[in-house]
Amino acid sequence: MSPSPEKGESPRWGRYGELRPKAIEAILDSCPVALVPWGALEWHSLHAPIGLDSVKAQGICEALAARCGGVVLPAIPMGVNTIKPFKGFPHCIDFPATVASRVAEVICRQLVDEGFRIIILFTGHYPPEQIEALANGARAAAVDHLEAAIEVWSDLDFLGSDFKADHAGATETSFQMHFAPGSVDLSALPDRELSLDEDGLTGEDPRRASGERGRQQLECVLERASARMEALIRKMDIRA
Ligand SMILES: [Zn+2]
Repeated sequence: MSPSPEKGESPRWGRYGELRPKAIEAILDSCPVALVPWGALEWHSLHAPIGLDSVKAQGICEALAARCGGVVLPAIPMGVNTIKPFKGFPHCIDFPATVASRVAEVICRQLVDEGFRIIILFTGHYPPEQIEALANGARAAAVDHLEAAIEVWSDLDFLGSDFKADHAGATETSFQMHFAPGSVDLSALPDRELSLDEDGLTGEDPRRASGERGRQQLECVLERASARMEALIRKMDIRA
């Protein structure tokens, strides 16, 4: 649950869907920032849930909002170019880029209309086709809304050199273990070396993942992402 404001108290951040109107208005007055976690429903090998990218993006956005302020929307599970068309793995719901662009545009336009001045589409699924689709949607919304900053970010931008971005490898699996303890089953993996073609994963072996590593990764992402957010807030001059 979002931090529930006492009577008369103004919350600094919250989950949009859990907030009553007065709480949204208080956040709009103090820091009109909206974070839109963008996820996917996509195969993440045998050990991790299909919704990993959504869980990761939601968790990072909530931690960032708790640090810098703003609202966090529910994660949009709309992956473009998932591992299904790429390598044939099942259980993915794959979206055309044009659909994701249009949805991103509609969400951004309406958030600007609601008074948000910084909107971040934060994607946990980041093949180039996904980034481009969201960037196209953001650009289309920004055309008539120059008073707002609309940007596309991903955890890829903030991991630095300490942790390598992957697909269902040790990095993503650690995020999942940190944000949703108990949701990963490493014993479901076959007892051999893992590969993209056979197992649908990339990067370091997920058997090296841990919730503690996920916590460290989040700190690393937060340090850089909050600096970028603070700079954007200063540039837009929007904090009350
Ligand atoms: Zn992923």
